[in-house]
Amino acid sequence: MTEATAVDDEDGAAEANEAVVVPLDPSSSALEAGDPDPLPERVLVVAAHPDDADFGASGTIASWAAQGASVTYCIVTDGAAGAADPGIDLANLASIRQGEQRRAAEALGVEDVIFLGYADGRLEPSQEVRRDVSRVIRQVRPDRVVAQSPERDYRRIRASHPDHLAAGEATLRAVYPDARNPYAHPELLAAGLEPFEVPEVWLMASTNPDRVVDITGHFEEKVAALSAHASQITDITSVASFVREWAAETARRFGLPPGRLAEAFQVVDTR
Ligand SMILES: [Zn+2]
Repeated sequence: MTEATAVDDEDGAAEANEAVVVPLDPSSSALEAGDPDPLPERVLVVAAHPDDADFGASGTIASWAAQGASVTYCIVTDGAAGAADPGIDLANLASIRQGEQRRAAEALGVEDVIFLGYADGRLEPSQEVRRDVSRVIRQVRPDRVVAQSPERDYRRIRASHPDHLAAGEATLRAVYPDARNPYAHPELLAAGLEPFEVPEVWLMASTNPDRVVDITGHFEEKVAALSAHASQITDITSVASFVREWAAETARRFGLPPGRLAEAFQVVDTR
């Protein structure tokens, strides 16, 4: 962790608060380098399992929260189908994982964690999941949603767990059209939840990332969030070093200066 200490000073933290936009292809006109994203007011992060968002986006989330964004986590499954420790109390695993996710959220400055409670390992982008994510969207009314990519990455199959693909697909279906359509899931409107149009979605683990966020100043919070998931991670030191290398590689790929750490997303305009 000496490297992190070296860059985690005032300047490092301030710099890391800027989302840096770097086109993957310098000849691409789709993105303009140096145009930082405006800070969102309310962010909703939807993920299949407890720990997914902490692996995929927690440096970015900590950065947004530190700048004053209000962040809500929505975890779709109960996470009860897996643990690193074979001797774990399976009957209590769902509640253990809820506690872990709440502690991870606290480490990042996430204000609220909502658990939808679907069975881990069996998730489909069903009408019920679409309705429940639409409900949360109408409650939170986020100006930015962070979700998992619904596209399988054939080069990184472990990022493409079927539950991740299903959670991403259900979330995009909820963003468009369900949450904004007053005729979709009419029970929501009947309960007083007005339609809401989410303007943009940031996809984690995308096969085609086009936005990079410098998380160097928030890497320690990312490690703190990951270390809360004790039922999944037995050796936080080796996970932290793997995650650091991964973040460094992302930074390199997007042309950030040596020593920087980053997370990357595909930003989808959903207006
Ligand atoms: Zn997962």
